[in-house]
Amino acid sequence: MDFSTFALIPPPLLAVIGFVFGLVVGSFCNVCIARMPKKKSVAFPASHCPHCKTPIRKRDNIPVLSYLMLGGRCRQCKERISPVYPAVELVTALLWAAVFYKFGFTWTSAIYAVVMPTLVIITVIDIEHQIIPDKITLPGIAFGLIAGTYLNGFVDSLIGLVVGGGLFLFLAEVYFKVRGAMGMGGGDIKYIAAAGALLGWAQVLLVIFLGAISGALFGALGMTTKKLNFLSRIPFGPFLALATIISIFFGDDILGLYLSLMVVEQ
Ligand SMILES: [Zn+2]
Repeated sequence: MDFSTFALIPPPLLAVIGFVFGLVVGSFCNVCIARMPKKKSVAFPASHCPHCKTPIRKRDNIPVLSYLMLGGRCRQCKERISPVYPAVELVTALLWAAVFYKFGFTWTSAIYAVVMPTLVIITVIDIEHQIIPDKITLPGIAFGLIAGTYLNGFVDSLIGLVVGGGLFLFLAEVYFKVRGAMGMGGGDIKYIAAAGALLGWAQVLLVIFLGAISGALFGALGMTTKKLNFLSRIPFGPFLALATIISIFFGDDILGLYLSLMVVEQ
């Protein structure tokens, strides 16, 4: 993209602009999170209170601010509104700010501006419903191939898809044989195939590694604090999404450090 005037905007200002637009995108994420698992349209009808069904007025639908001004309650029925709504808006806005700060006004930013809200949606839906919808992962694989081809070339993108998806398919098979239960959902397999297509084979291995480590740490923490037991079903999606975010922002640095250490070793 060569909008030369936009290219002159300093990164901190781009981050602020990204944050403001990110709040609005986060608001749309909330609509997707509420409606996608129920197979409802994300476009109609207008937002309404989940408790009393009253349509939400425009001035009560300002991201984060309305929640604070209404004291976290619906204006009509005074029922408590979940803090997940403003949290989703805030996290999406921060991710958009970080994308535009790091990648500037570029096609790369445009790609990650689509990816980040998708990761937020996946995280919340997987926590609430223990699924990653096909409606996200299947278009995600196509998007991953196209965007991944732009970022890393078609071959790396295709290998990333096969390595990521193949490895998870294999692990799911092994897990099924060992415990006779599905350990990893089909959604996780399709998710990692899409992430592999987007990020290429080296970074998708990093995503799997970071996802497994953070998931295991969370599980261990949960068990020591007695919040979880050994058989608790922890959704894997949020850890994979977190690992994907780390990989997008710091993957090159992490892999570069790893390779430089390998060279020193030899
Ligand atoms: Zn209400």
